[in-house]
Amino acid sequence: MILYNSLSHKREEFIPNEPGKVSMYTCGPTVYHYAHIGNLRTYIMEDILDRYLRYAGYEVKRVMNITDVGHLSSDGDTGEDKMLKGAKREKKTVMEIARYYTDCFFADCEKLHIRRPDVIEPATNCIDEFIRVIESLLEKGYAYEAGGNIYFDTSRLSEYYVFNDFTSEDLAVGVREGVEEDGNKRNKADFVLWFTKSKFEDQELKWDSPWGVGYPGWHIECSCISMKHLGERLDIHCGGIDNAFPHHTNEIAQSEAFLGHKWCNYWMHVLHLNTDSGKMSKSKGEFLTVSLLESKGYDPVVYRFFCLQSHYRRSLVFSYENLDNATVAYNKLIARIAAQKVRDGEQVDATALAELKGKFAKALDNDLNTSLAVTAIYDVLKSPANAATKRAALADFDTVLCLDLLQNADAFAAAEAKKAEDAARAVAERVYSDDPAIRAIEEAIDARAAAKKAKNYAEADRIRAELLERGIVLTDTAQGTTWAKA
Ligand code: AMP
Ligand code: ZN
Repeated sequence: MILYNSLSHKREEFIPNEPGKVSMYTCGPTVYHYAHIGNLRTYIMEDILDRYLRYAGYEVKRVMNITDVGHLSSDGDTGEDKMLKGAKREKKTVMEIARYYTDCFFADCEKLHIRRPDVIEPATNCIDEFIRVIESLLEKGYAYEAGGNIYFDTSRLSEYYVFNDFTSEDLAVGVREGVEEDGNKRNKADFVLWFTKSKFEDQELKWDSPWGVGYPGWHIECSCISMKHLGERLDIHCGGIDNAFPHHTNEIAQSEAFLGHKWCNYWMHVLHLNTDSGKMSKSKGEFLTVSLLESKGYDPVVYRFFCLQSHYRRSLVFSYENLDNATVAYNKLIARIAAQKVRDGEQVDATALAELKGKFAKALDNDLNTSLAVTAIYDVLKSPANAATKRAALADFDTVLCLDLLQNADAFAAAEAKKAEDAARAVAERVYSDDPAIRAIEEAIDARAAAKKAKNYAEADRIRAELLERGIVLTDTAQGTTWAKA
């Protein structure tokens, strides 16, 4: 499988540390509010990676943290803890809102068919691990105490800006617009590992530490939670593109300083979902959540389909018009699948199936090209294979894509069958007039309806013309056909 590695800026053959096994870490949500559909784009694309690796035969262990402490309003370690901000907004405790929004996050994930990671670990569960790693960084001289806080010393590294799409000038924390400079830092890029002297006296969650009562920085949690569950060598680390700097940059700095060797081999970053007016945000404009889409009548699985139509390394623009287009395309696709009727005794053609599966795997092997994987669905429908083989291929693809293809096609077919049955019953139960002349007209109208249904429009027109000759005019209405004397 070829994956683009943000660390090397190249497409690379994916080779895990241990043959057949993959360790995968995903930055989880900061649970101070609902996830917006931009956040969820990232989780959908990570889910495709997770599911495809399993599909390809790897044994995957996937870990996700829940950020319930330490993520300040600015990634540059300034501002208020986002959790505290959320708690104040809702007049609840931090733990109450953490629990509530964690549940909401996983409920959204379920609606979008995002698989639950094997391990989900809230940061507040791991304070001892954070302290242990920070102590070791201090011992090794990679960290220092200043003004009561513990900082990571980035000047000790030969290379800090590892995702070097950025210039240090542009990105050094402290020189970015709107970020206050912290006078305790020896270098602008240094970051906080542990806060004790915070200017926020009301920080709700605090723990004892060798440096005084305080709380951890955001970055240390992902390094520690990953190492706790996945060991010293990680195969893949994922997140949205905004996490590359400073979050992932800092994770690498502290993990490798602690371990003394390379930590993670592949970095996957998902580009953002934007709106027409720019970056998606929880505070400005309409707060786009899965529940909002549902309340407007959209099926969450259509949002998943919308995301899969584009590549994860391209930013994607959300608009209702785009989502409407995805809905139309999805419904058409489902109708086409529903038209595949398996005949009695029809067998799956193993050779044809292998060929179709080959196309699908080729698409995802190509740096997770989900839009080509969606094209592979259409290729199945166009193929000369029989319906049993096509359904087998779609069932197979859907273990990764999770678009409810067969379930929704079967539901669609059942609804169509019921409509036809109802119409037939209405005809069967039709009470005709006792007057033979009127009864003849009613029977002609039914015969015309049957001809139309069978797409025999010539016959339908013939019946209408014949009635007209006898002075009977037909009018088609939503409730059926009515007649009157001309
Ligand atoms: P947060 O809950 O803010 O910690 O973010 C959760 C995940 O969503 C992270 O991986 C972010 O990088 C990602 N993310 C944030 N904004 C967007 C966006 N507009 N589009 C896609 N992913 C995003
Ligand atoms: Zn993280």
